[in-house]
Amino acid sequence: MTETIENLRDFNYYPFSSNINSKYVLAEYIWIDGTGEKLRSKTKVYLNPIKNLDDLEWWTYDGSSTDQAVTKFSEIYLKPVCMVKDPFRGDPHLLVLCETYLPDKKTPARYNFRWLSNLIMEKAKEHKPWFGIEQEYFLFKRTGTTHLWPLGWPNGGFPYPQGRYYCSIGERNNFGRALAEAHLRACLNAGLKIAGLNAEVAPSQWEFQIGIAEGIEIGDHMWLARYILERIGEEFGIDINYDPKPIQGDWNGSGAHCNYSTETTRSEGGYKYIVEKLMPILEKQHKDMIRLYGINNQLRLTGKHETGRYDSFSWGDGARGCSIRVPIITKELGQGYFEDRRPAANIDPYLVSAALVDVTCLNSEHLPQLLQVFETSQKALQA
Ligand code: ADP
Ligand code: MN
Ligand code: MN
Ligand code: MN
Repeated sequence: MTETIENLRDFNYYPFSSNINSKYVLAEYIWIDGTGEKLRSKTKVYLNPIKNLDDLEWWTYDGSSTDQAVTKFSEIYLKPVCMVKDPFRGDPHLLVLCETYLPDKKTPARYNFRWLSNLIMEKAKEHKPWFGIEQEYFLFKRTGTTHLWPLGWPNGGFPYPQGRYYCSIGERNNFGRALAEAHLRACLNAGLKIAGLNAEVAPSQWEFQIGIAEGIEIGDHMWLARYILERIGEEFGIDINYDPKPIQGDWNGSGAHCNYSTETTRSEGGYKYIVEKLMPILEKQHKDMIRLYGINNQLRLTGKHETGRYDSFSWGDGARGCSIRVPIITKELGQGYFEDRRPAANIDPYLVSAALVDVTCLNSEHLPQLLQVFETSQKALQA
């Protein structure tokens, strides 16, 4: 059989000779592009060992090709901010997550929110904010040349109704386990803080959890885990879908529940503090926070399919039909964490984690700025 480009997908297809492997370090520079949801990356060959972030240079790319710059002033800087092992190329190669900056090296490029998130995390450092984010997603496959439809669904049609798919096994129920499993292992090999995975309520819908991570690390590990997922998708010929409501009707949407605690909520009296102090503040800020919680999230937060409503705030002990669930274990122990169920699968985790910290620890001081940077990025570039 003649091989086509399409089936040259195995990531071990071009193995390194041990000679090359010891001589070079391939650093894959990764950044968020002008959609705010997609990632780009390119490779830099280093002829010297890379021990830490300081060994990595700032680099540039063509921002006019990623919707982050106009052609006339096209260059954008990449500033390495987090490096992990590259699970595809193996040791000593690296995945390098970057922040993006305009040519002055100071002005953050479109959809770079990490600098602000980091500033907020630094200010709230003594509260030791911990996060665990549950990333839900759908697997889509190509039918024909352009049409995408969930893996395992009849072409253009619908499978059995929901009920059998959550944490499922078996050929009729579980679609794409090999991909989810490969992703988990690759994340572990990279050294990411990944907590687990499960098949979700809709057929061909999955979840992985990043955490427990403190401060800015939650956003860094989340974006790197998404990067690895898309790369594994290439190998399987699968498109990763983070749309909050990819299929209309009686099919669950995709969320990114954000589990959150601080030193105070984890200490004695923490449950009381969550209920009496934090829930009222979070209710008060609902209308603003929800604007950071994913584009088109109103299509998902309907009050059905284990969600709270988009336009109103609610919370409950062990409840899944509301904005925030306080786990029964937190009530039982009198301390622990809570779960913000509002964020959609397509969030920027830097924004959501920073908003939670700002509202619960810093009197919502930075909330207007978070909203402003997000909403400015959404506006089209001015030539
Ligand atoms: P669910 O029951 O909502 O599906 P999961 O098990 O998928 O819950 O996710 C729970 C997440 O909560 C995990 O990622 C875990 O790391 C995180 N978590 C556990 N304890 C804490 C804590 N004290 N602070 C923040 N996150 C926590
Ligand atoms: Mn979960
Ligand atoms: Mn879930
Ligand atoms: Mn959850």
